[in-house]
Amino acid sequence: QEKDYQMMLRTRNPGGYLSPELYLTLDRLSDEYGNGTLRATTRQGIQLHGVLKQNLKATIGAIVRNMGSTLGACGDLNRNIMAPPAPYKNRPEYRLAQEYANNIADLLRPQTGAYYEIWLDGEKAVSVEEHPDVVAARQRNGNGTVVHNSEEPIYGTYYMPRKFKCAVTVPGDNSVDAYTHDVTLVVITDRSGQLKGFNVLAGGGLGRTHNKEETFARTADEIGYVDKADVYDLMKAIVATQRDYGDRHDRRHARMKYLIHDWGVDRFRQQVETYLGKPLKPFKKLPKWTFYDYLGWHEQGDGNWFVGISVENGRIIDRREGIQLKSALREIVQRFHLPMLITPNQSVLFYEVKPEDKAEIQAILTRHGIAKETEIDPLVRYAMACPALPLCGLAVTESERIMPTVLGRLRALLTKLGLEDEHFVVRMTGCPNGCARPYMAELGLVGSAPESYQVWLGGSPNQTRLARPYLERLHDNDVDTTLEPLFVFFRDGRKKGESFGDFCDRVGFQALRQFSATYNAD
Ligand code: SF4
Repeated sequence: QEKDYQMMLRTRNPGGYLSPELYLTLDRLSDEYGNGTLRATTRQGIQLHGVLKQNLKATIGAIVRNMGSTLGACGDLNRNIMAPPAPYKNRPEYRLAQEYANNIADLLRPQTGAYYEIWLDGEKAVSVEEHPDVVAARQRNGNGTVVHNSEEPIYGTYYMPRKFKCAVTVPGDNSVDAYTHDVTLVVITDRSGQLKGFNVLAGGGLGRTHNKEETFARTADEIGYVDKADVYDLMKAIVATQRDYGDRHDRRHARMKYLIHDWGVDRFRQQVETYLGKPLKPFKKLPKWTFYDYLGWHEQGDGNWFVGISVENGRIIDRREGIQLKSALREIVQRFHLPMLITPNQSVLFYEVKPEDKAEIQAILTRHGIAKETEIDPLVRYAMACPALPLCGLAVTESERIMPTVLGRLRALLTKLGLEDEHFVVRMTGCPNGCARPYMAELGLVGSAPESYQVWLGGSPNQTRLARPYLERLHDNDVDTTLEPLFVFFRDGRKKGESFGDFCDRVGFQALRQFSATYNAD
């Protein structure tokens, strides 16, 4: 008899969109086949953990029949495309970011019908034939039939050398961690909100391996600007460049960031322009980036409202201590039939809320013990942790399970030092793969051995500057004693309004180390 293999399954939701039907399906599947929880991911998808291999077909079948998909959520191809989770109806740039995230997800979707053959036995139920994946494949093939085992005009026979990640955002909105993707498009409109084109960032990526200098986290470069008419050809040209020139011999060196690093931006741009058939235009000036998490109540610009709900480390669960988040979300969807957006900070947002329903929705949240965003410690609100142990096979230590304790200890330490109102971005992962983007945090803790973490400092509060490794290995018992001198140095030496990450970056690691040594000697 075959072993009970346990799987993680991840959905594909461009821009984080989930219909009410799909959310209720995932909620049911998590109880029927998963570990009873759902997890909002840092790429705006949903993960189901603990699905046994023999239940995969029933699980994926139910997702697809409810207009969801898992196609391309893993593998060496374009992954889930991110966009700001802000459903503003009176700000066209936000609608455009969502629209182009969807369109590019369709453009880069694999054409093979094998997914449906495998998971639905090629089922031709009406609902499946009308599924957006199938409609898009049919349109591309142009003959009214889903072509199985067709050639992939964009990916070719061997797909990409490695995973490929994209985002679309609007000027000034860094909710998507714009510098961490293979490609980020920034919507450029004219004063009346008409789309003109896109700024293009390329070559970001965070995954690395400890003690392998040749692997590193990298922020994206400004590549240029493209008119709206050329944006799909540009995306195909970038994908083709990585497809044809990315490293297929060494998976550790296969992401597009290494191609751009090795070639330099100019050579990369020239190759993209060769495939595109025209030069890119100069990158357009952008306003300063700000990180938004969109928690709390906001008018969406057409009389309706949206509400962002904090999900600690993305885990949608009914906790024993009276915080019944999973039940609250289910009840809201069942009663109000609201669409949902998963945010890049692992939280969720309902939109299209009628003004007359606001109070009742807030009452459901309060009754289930869900804190308002103003009641959450900002250290917790802006933190992220990956699943790690016991759910991820790559984890070398804890992340999600230990994060609440670590944040509690940090808060106690800050309070002891007279910094009770201070907060900064803390991110933790159970291995250097970096799923919770720790290398952009003001304090990043990256699992390096059992109960130990590499410490990264110096990222910025708006996630535009890469942090740097400060300590190779810190046992979790030593977090407080190691950070105390740094917080004291920060408290006494910061400029007015300066954040912890900006302070560490300004004074430099040598000064941090010197101060720590003197403090500990005293
Ligand atoms: Fe797993 Fe590592 Fe990703 Fe965490 S960062 S989820 S441990 S692969």
